Amino acid sequence: MANQIDGKKISAQIKEELKERVTAMEAEGKKVTLAVIQVGKDPASSVYVGNKKKACAYIGIHSLSYELEEETSQEELLALIEELNGRKDVNGILVQLPLPSHIDENRVIRAIRPEKDVDGFHPESVGKLCIGQPGFVSCTPAGIIQLLKRSGIEIAGKECVVIGRSNIVGKPMALLLLRENATVTVAHSKTENLKEVTKRADILVVAVGKPKMITKEYIKEGAVVVDVGIHRNEENKLCGDVDYDDVWPVCSAVTPVPGGVGPMTIAMLMSNCVESAGGWFSGSEPV
Ligand code: NDP
Repeated sequence: MANQIDGKKISAQIKEELKERVTAMEAEGKKVTLAVIQVGKDPASSVYVGNKKKACAYIGIHSLSYELEEETSQEELLALIEELNGRKDVNGILVQLPLPSHIDENRVIRAIRPEKDVDGFHPESVGKLCIGQPGFVSCTPAGIIQLLKRSGIEIAGKECVVIGRSNIVGKPMALLLLRENATVTVAHSKTENLKEVTKRADILVVAVGKPKMITKEYIKEGAVVVDVGIHRNEENKLCGDVDYDDVWPVCSAVTPVPGGVGPMTIAMLMSNCVESAGGWFSGSEPV
């Protein structure tokens, strides 16, 4: 029977630690400021942006909000980023994705100065992760490392399988696990005999984007299962990429949806913001 990994509790702990850190920085005259840019009014994006601003307010990070019209041109957005890049009082810049189709996301990500790239999406940040230099790390995979470490789960030497190779989850996840000295396999849609591959995993991270695809047939007895997926089912309830009720009896620990990986993403974004203002935080050291 599995232990439930409590992402809500662990993210709350991290936010408390960050709040203390920000209070101490303020006493030294250092302020942490995040600029949040949203283009258009996509309802899901508005919820994410609202949650990020709420987390900033709780921790004591100042947030500057830029709500731009859907019709905003790429040039206008790039000009705003350039202005924020140059402002000494702005430590981090976050552009909520996805952007409207007339704007080139890669171009926008590249425009953010790497030292303000709190999402960790800039090619320089990704490159630093790849070669083991300190830099901002994509928040969801960074949060998963914290979930595992703070739940007392050993990573070094373990067989880890990541399903998914996206730039924001699968690939940085694999690199972080490698940095933690795991033996890492990345599976994707062209992987043959997926069940055989995933059954080798001591730690299985699932970022496949398919509701409840992973059942107990994919899991080795006693494995740790981390579910990154977020979906709404027919009853409008949240579920993950893993069939939680089915895998629960065979794994040793599992993350629920909601309340697993999701809350960690915002906590690690806050950690990156504090770091962007020069505040060292124990959760963000290069691993
Ligand atoms: P993507 O759709 O970008 O990537 C999905 C990956 O899964 C791809 O690499 C794809 O392979 C692979 N894949 C698809 N089908 C299969 C299959 N049948 N067998 C094996 N591999 C398969 O998704 P993301 O990485 O952006 O997100 C994954 C999930 O995590 C989504 O549910 C998303 O909503 C959620 N998410 C949650 C976050 C959180 O904070 N909790 C943050 C970010 C994402 P290929 O490359 O070959 O196409």
